Amino acid sequence: MSIETLEYDVIGLGFGPANLAIAVALEEDRRVREQGLRYCFLEKKPTFEWHGGMLLSDSRMQISFLKDLATLRNPASRYTFINYLHQKRRLEAFINVSTFTPSRLEYNDYLGWAAGHFAERVHYGEEVIGVEPVLETGDVRKLRILSRQADGRVRTRITRNLIVSPGGEALVPELFRELRDDPRVVHSSAYLARIEQACSPVCAEPRLGVIGSGQSAAEIFTDLCARYADARVSMIMRSLAMRPADDSPFINEIFDPGFTDVVFEQSEQARRAFLAAHSQTNYSVVNLDLIESIYQRFYQQQVTGQAPHSLLNQREIIAVDASGEQLVLTLKGPGGEERHLFDALVLATGYRRDGYRHLLSGLAPYLLGGVERDYRVRGSEQLQAGIYLQGCCEDSHGLSDTLLSVLAVRSQEVVDSLLRSRKRQTEPASACA
Ligand SMILES: Cc1cc2nc3c(=O)[nH]c(=O)nc-3n(C[C@H](O)[C@H](O)[C@H](O)COP(=O)(O)OP(=O)(O)OC[C@H]3O[C@@H](n4cnc5c(N)ncnc54)[C@H](O)[C@@H]3O)c2cc1C
Repeated sequence: MSIETLEYDVIGLGFGPANLAIAVALEEDRRVREQGLRYCFLEKKPTFEWHGGMLLSDSRMQISFLKDLATLRNPASRYTFINYLHQKRRLEAFINVSTFTPSRLEYNDYLGWAAGHFAERVHYGEEVIGVEPVLETGDVRKLRILSRQADGRVRTRITRNLIVSPGGEALVPELFRELRDDPRVVHSSAYLARIEQACSPVCAEPRLGVIGSGQSAAEIFTDLCARYADARVSMIMRSLAMRPADDSPFINEIFDPGFTDVVFEQSEQARRAFLAAHSQTNYSVVNLDLIESIYQRFYQQQVTGQAPHSLLNQREIIAVDASGEQLVLTLKGPGGEERHLFDALVLATGYRRDGYRHLLSGLAPYLLGGVERDYRVRGSEQLQAGIYLQGCCEDSHGLSDTLLSVLAVRSQEVVDSLLRSRKRQTEPASACA
């Protein structure tokens, strides 16, 4: 059953860092206040949390804290990481730590602190389940946003503009799709929430497997070895070796906000080639320090002659049997097929970012495909309402789109575009009144 319909100028789908940066940019923009824009955000989680399933105590940021919610747009903002430290009375101590990459736990606390300033604008525990066109004289002037609350009730809101920032969804390989509800199989996105439950039935020496060769896989392998002292942990990967992330300064320039233009202006073919050539800056790569510490762990096994942990590299998983007490993986490797038994498996197999297509399917007749430079979805002439996409535009805007690197600057680009489109959207309405 649907309850109460409210009308907004802007609704943000999701309240992760991308839309949090939008909230900051909207609050700091004088024009937004002067024009009295009505806006809110809908977030399916019950409270703010940034990748809570992976907030491991030793994990660090992969990016400088200066690429926070505001600094690159407005260093004088009250929402900078430095002001957060100041407010928390840790600025001096942080300086003494001498790092540009704080722990993820601290960064989550920073983002949560910033999110706390917008509590009245965010409706937590509401999942957007549909977007419908609101037609006026044949044009889609507004959108109807349907969201499901925790108690199952569906709520409806009307908006002139929608900013879709849903982040990624757990990517579960085909072989494991049927095992989504099996408590022994955990995707990395739910690692901390579910690993204890996955391992608890096993009393001693659990056999644990981590599938993947990226940063999350490496972090989880290390965490499992520390968390369960008597466990036997295997890393299972297709590749020969973990590869180090390239975060050297020249390469890092591709994550500068100014580089978005360089990527966007290229032909589609050139962009594809560029993304393929530079994906090793972000995907399936691991911090060199972490690679070295894992190598050191395996070397130490050679020294002691005790080898509880193993690296199953160059292995393709070809079958999973979950019918017995243990999970049986059939792997194809250089020596042929082999079977391995596990009590629990962690899938560090990444994320997919196409879920928004399903959410927007009700608007399909009006969508032309792709986004403009200002992140506005390309639509037919009838589509007057604005739809913006953040975090799903890697193909057109480059590798920084899914990351934190461009948040501060991108949020202003979107707000500028919103204000331009609001002018167009409100003109005909006032002429009719
Ligand atoms: C473990 C991990 C560590 C990372 N570390 C870094 C790093 O150090 N540096 C970096 O630059 N990037 C990092 N990233 C990349 C990450 O994508 C960004 O940090 C950031 O989270 C992107 O913000 P976002 O708002 O686009 O997406 P998200 O943070 O995923 O937020 C999207 C939000 O939308 C909500 N949502 C989704 N669908 C709906 C719906 N239908 N209705 C309502 N709400 C919805 C989700 O609940 C979520 O809160 C990391 C990613 C992971 C998984």
